[in-house]
Amino acid sequence: MAFEGLGEKLQGVFKKLKGKGKISETDLKAALREVRVALLEADVNYKVVKNFINNINDRAVGQEVLESLTPGQQVVKIVNDELTSLMGGETSKLNMSSKPPTVIMMVGLQGSGKTTSTGKLSNYLKKQGRRPLLVACDIYRPAAIKQLQVLGEQLEMPVFSMGDKTNPVEIAKSALDHAMHYGNDVVLIDTAGRLHIDEELMEELVKVKKIVNPTEILLVVDAMTGQDAVNVAERFNELLDITGVVLTKLDGDTRGGAALSVKAVTGKPIKFVGMGEKLDALEPFHPDRMSSRILG
Ligand code: GDP
Repeated sequence: MAFEGLGEKLQGVFKKLKGKGKISETDLKAALREVRVALLEADVNYKVVKNFINNINDRAVGQEVLESLTPGQQVVKIVNDELTSLMGGETSKLNMSSKPPTVIMMVGLQGSGKTTSTGKLSNYLKKQGRRPLLVACDIYRPAAIKQLQVLGEQLEMPVFSMGDKTNPVEIAKSALDHAMHYGNDVVLIDTAGRLHIDEELMEELVKVKKIVNPTEILLVVDAMTGQDAVNVAERFNELLDITGVVLTKLDGDTRGGAALSVKAVTGKPIKFVGMGEKLDALEPFHPDRMSSRILG
């Protein structure tokens, strides 16, 4: 289960604090030191951790928590607030274009769960009464088009493909015409993934972006890869100015670092989380609920 280690450690720290009645500044310092270690062990970016701890310290001292009757609880509340705000504060909804079709570009490295998430997201939107079109723009990995078609069949969702001989920019453009013609109000473009970020891939994504003018560019990252996921997000964001992140495999035993660092490092919110391999295992991301879950 995700965040298990982090949650246990933080809950342990707070239990000690709550048990004390009164808290001295030394107690607070010691507790924050433990929180710091727990976050670093959960693979949270060290700069993010530093900021986070400073914020809590400032608030705890500033609000005269130490003098209050329930200082332990107040510290927990502050940590809960700061954890929520670290992950983006408010739930960040998917933007829809006022002039359909809304175009959503799905980007990410191979294996991140991009194609699966594209299918899941189309399913989520269909349940909300939308008429999505899936577009197969990953022409380099032979199985990718087939994978999207199989997903489309399972979900009873139309899939637009022009095989692997047409370039992705052309495919994307034709897909938009197709959507206009057939009344699809959301177009989800499954772009090419690579093992690593490379120039060619990025150039192609930039070209596709230019031609389709997407409302959303969602970067799919694998939560299990921790700091790497955050580095990937930083790089994609620099080049593509993404609008949000889909964090996958949060059902696994990830330490949680990616979920806690992505927003702070890129400025872009996590919009959805993948909670399993099944096609309905995609959920909107709620920072407040996640924070409460971590803190128990
Ligand atoms: P792509 O190369 O980025 O398109 O990745 P795929 O969509 O093919 O997914 C790679 C693997 O990750 C597949 O086995 C998926 O079933 C799995 N996967 C994707 N999302 C999740 C998730 O949220 N949880 C789990 N447990 N597995 C996932």
